[in-house]
Amino acid sequence: TKQIYAFSEGNMSMRDLLGGKGANLAEMTNLGLPVPHGFTLTTEACHRYQETGSLSSELLTELDEALATLSQTTGKQFNGDTQPLLVSVRSGAAISMPGMMDTILNIGLNDQTVVALATLTNNERFAYDSYRRLLAMFGNVVYNIEEETFDHVLTDLKQQKGYDSDLELTADDLKQIVADFKAIYQAAGKGEFPQSPKDQLLAAVNAVFESWNNHRAQVYRQQNHISESLGTAVNVQEMVFGNAGEQSGTGVAFTRNPASGEKKVFGEYLLNAQGEDVVAGIRTPETIEVLKDAMPVIYDQLMGIAEKLENHYQDMQDLEFTIENGKLFLLQARDGKRTPYAAVKIAVDQVGEGLITKEQALKRVSPESVSAMLHPEFDETDLGQHTKLTTGLPASPGAATGRAYFTAEDAKRASDGGEQVILIRQDTSPEDIEGMIVSQAIVTSRGGMTSHAAVVARGMGATGVVGAHEITVDYAGKVAKVGDQVIHEGDWVSVDGTTGNLYLGQINTTPAGVKGELSTLLDWAKDVAKMGVYTNADTPQDFQKALDFDADGIGLTRTEHMFFKPERLLQMRRLILATDAKGRRDPLSQLLQMQQEDFYQLYKLAGDKEVTIRLLDPPLHEFLPHDEAEIQIVANQIQETPERLRERITSLKELNPMLGHRGDRLAVTFPDIYQMQVKAIMSAVIRLNDEGLEVHPHIMIPLTDSRDEMSWVRDLVTDQIQQMVNNSGIRVDYTVGTMMEMPRACVTADQIAEVSDFFSFGTNDLTQLTFGYSRDDVGSFMPEYIKQGILPADPFQTIDTQGVGALMEIAITKGRQTNPELPIGVCGEVGGDPASIEFFNQIGITYVSCSPYRVPVARLAAAQATL
Ligand code: PEP
Ligand code: MG
Repeated sequence: TKQIYAFSEGNMSMRDLLGGKGANLAEMTNLGLPVPHGFTLTTEACHRYQETGSLSSELLTELDEALATLSQTTGKQFNGDTQPLLVSVRSGAAISMPGMMDTILNIGLNDQTVVALATLTNNERFAYDSYRRLLAMFGNVVYNIEEETFDHVLTDLKQQKGYDSDLELTADDLKQIVADFKAIYQAAGKGEFPQSPKDQLLAAVNAVFESWNNHRAQVYRQQNHISESLGTAVNVQEMVFGNAGEQSGTGVAFTRNPASGEKKVFGEYLLNAQGEDVVAGIRTPETIEVLKDAMPVIYDQLMGIAEKLENHYQDMQDLEFTIENGKLFLLQARDGKRTPYAAVKIAVDQVGEGLITKEQALKRVSPESVSAMLHPEFDETDLGQHTKLTTGLPASPGAATGRAYFTAEDAKRASDGGEQVILIRQDTSPEDIEGMIVSQAIVTSRGGMTSHAAVVARGMGATGVVGAHEITVDYAGKVAKVGDQVIHEGDWVSVDGTTGNLYLGQINTTPAGVKGELSTLLDWAKDVAKMGVYTNADTPQDFQKALDFDADGIGLTRTEHMFFKPERLLQMRRLILATDAKGRRDPLSQLLQMQQEDFYQLYKLAGDKEVTIRLLDPPLHEFLPHDEAEIQIVANQIQETPERLRERITSLKELNPMLGHRGDRLAVTFPDIYQMQVKAIMSAVIRLNDEGLEVHPHIMIPLTDSRDEMSWVRDLVTDQIQQMVNNSGIRVDYTVGTMMEMPRACVTADQIAEVSDFFSFGTNDLTQLTFGYSRDDVGSFMPEYIKQGILPADPFQTIDTQGVGALMEIAITKGRQTNPELPIGVCGEVGGDPASIEFFNQIGITYVSCSPYRVPVARLAAAQATL
């Protein structure tokens, strides 16, 4: 069988035989693009080499023929004294594989052709520079001489001459280096550097085939489950030189603008230069527009190539080109890197141009890059001027700058005084809510991705960094410390919620908005996605934000978050501290008024979209004062003695509040609280009905463990609804469903579905209880678990498919055994995570619900999950 293919004989589909690089070079050649000529030794040739340990005589014959053809097509010859043929030798397996020998450039140079090259390019320095590079690469790859041995020679000479950079080396210096490098071969017992180009080539090919079996490559294959039998191909390609004179040059171009996405070739080039010169920034390159005047024919050819490549690969391309003596060569083309904004614009534009389908466009944009487009960012240059203080978990994206405060009250006061503030705390609790609302960013030293601070920050769209454990906050001294760095109250700090970084000082931000193309893309996503995307929202402001992002409705309203405002907190405290139903009556009726208005506002905003309201969930003690000063104030407010208040607080105290008096356990012991909430919901529904808006309330019960428990609470709720319906005389369609957040509930889901109209997975609690990880304390060990590879990711951020996910699958299967139509959502934090969404789509989840800013991200991920 044939073991060598000229580039013109292959194509993209021959990856297995020609390797990835070889197949791509062939594809471009066949497109009629001016790729420097060359040929590929197949993976089949590699197999034979592996079997016998040498290059077969058939292969050597084919190689001679391939070289002869190459000489003919290029007009260059090995050892040529006017047009010397120089080639590169590169490995290239079907799957790109670091760890293998990669590249040797300038094969074909020797004591004779280096002179010819100097004459040809009129650049002696360049010729000897190329020669010494060949000597070092060849010595290292073929003879295993340490790279450092060559580096030392260079460093010593530079030191001796007092040079700072390689660029100061003269042609004479480089001649000296070439001589010294040759001496290294001798000293290493390798004899003369082979002067015959053919010998150089054969040695290089041998080295590539050998490198398939080197240790690094083997380890890489094992780790990545790449078959040992694949083998690598070898590409031999003519070298072209952009520094052969003023009619030569080199450059890079993108087929569209990689920053803005504009449909216009964007690029830079340098005349009489090599690729490295453009990258190294020694000379300032010209823009591609200048080439239009300087070399109009080449320019037109390049524009034609750009268009052809884009049409062929159906995506924006990044290309490297070289002009050698007025002749254009394409060295490489690949999908170009781009900003999130450009990614969206290019994808949508290309659909408009008929180049790609909507489905392809949806796949082109990463959901996370959508997230990056919705939040302000730090100005890149300004960011470069600041050094990072520490890093925590990136809890809520965005970039914020402000003055540091350490208590909610101080933050509030400073904000009232017109300051931009950042709240830095050990952790946060519901009492801090007012200070959190006014803060640009919230930073905590404890807690994980679903801690109070993280959830609240995301809900509000505030920037958040949590679990930055290097920070210690000294509340009394009003300072925070990171090592010996001190942040005083009022100092400027800047917080990046996308990276989790914290900086000292003020950094400028640039706003980001929803752009036209993004909303087009998200409309397509909505058409394609099977799962619905709802939002977690507790206030009309949050909900409005989510509606702006086209949420399908509300999947979770955490009603406890509605009690954080000061006047409500007071009534809530009166309620909790009352010792009997009689004492609870007045605060309950006050709260009823307030909640009724809350629900009215949410339903009104929703129009005909669905809203799911969850009844009160948190442990009661969260609402109570903790320190002595506060106890005094609250005692005063509720007209109680501090002693009795303290007693009551003690009696409510729980060792494990997260596993304590929460959710429906609260309903069973204090039924009047849930009754009040249902009454408030129904009052709002009836009021809207009078105004002509028909609302179907969805009421959700948290923390359910069993059918009997759910059944008990459901009766409580439906009795209250029935009472209201009977009194008003209107008809109301409603549903009562449950959160699925207890492992026991998941394994008995068939029973629970008998008394539940829908399920919604509370993956925050379900993860907490499945792993036994306290969600508010994971900051102390989770980072280490991830670093050590014990966990692949934080399961509070990305669903643990094997454990938590398996429980979900059990619950879904059992729930739908009872009720095949059962709607099943996810409203924990992973509901907005693209990788998790892919899994949820697979297991038959009906909808996800996430914080407002995650809605567009989730929408795109939900669409991608179906493609
Ligand atoms: C959950 O547990 O996933 C959930 C959504 O409820 P919360 O975070 O309010 O406990
Ligand atoms: Mg929960």
